[in-house]
Amino acid sequence: MRVLVAEDERKIAAFIRKALKEEGFTVDVTGNGDEAFLMATTQSYDAIVLDIMLPGRDGLSILRHLRERHNTVPVLILTARGELDERLEGLSVGADDYITKPFFVEELIARIHAVVRRASGDKLSLLQAGDLVVDLVTREVKVGDAAVDLTAREFNLLTYLMRSPGRVYPRTQIIEHVWGFDFDPGTNLVDVYIQRLRKKIDPEGGRGFLETVRGVGYRFKA
Ligand code: CA
Repeated sequence: MRVLVAEDERKIAAFIRKALKEEGFTVDVTGNGDEAFLMATTQSYDAIVLDIMLPGRDGLSILRHLRERHNTVPVLILTARGELDERLEGLSVGADDYITKPFFVEELIARIHAVVRRASGDKLSLLQAGDLVVDLVTREVKVGDAAVDLTAREFNLLTYLMRSPGRVYPRTQIIEHVWGFDFDPGTNLVDVYIQRLRKKIDPEGGRGFLETVRGVGYRFKA
């Protein structure tokens, strides 16, 4: 899961980033509303955590503009205690949920999972290809009856490719989505992870779920 966090209070932003990373999410953080809007419109996120009072464009304006552009990314707004008007306005311009500061990070994580689940619809919580089944909610992976144990990163890589079978993903795009912005693209990290995944989900090598597209990147077999 890739999440954008727009929050200008450094302590809160750092604390959210740390917690979401521990949860296995890829996290981009910005403290500026104009930058947040640019990132939200040029990158693909599974959810956005959006503070309302931001330098530059404010949170509600960002949200309104996203929805005007028919961008349906799940948005969870951060509001200060007692600011009922903001909360109502946020929901009316298309927020999926809100959380009031101060909050417990466990609650934030649970709400992110909930808005993503709602947005994708329950039927989409399972990805399936032949005898490979991935449950996006419980994060369980099975091949036939056998459970496959994946790390958070391996899981994110697999589901990223698996959501769009047949689509070719360049290595740089995979790194950006699965590892986040600040990663040196000069490594063979993606190749190493693909090899590991292949061994785990297809030990005999007969199914060929993860195809190499020479000189470009990888795709999940259509
Ligand atoms: Ca703020």
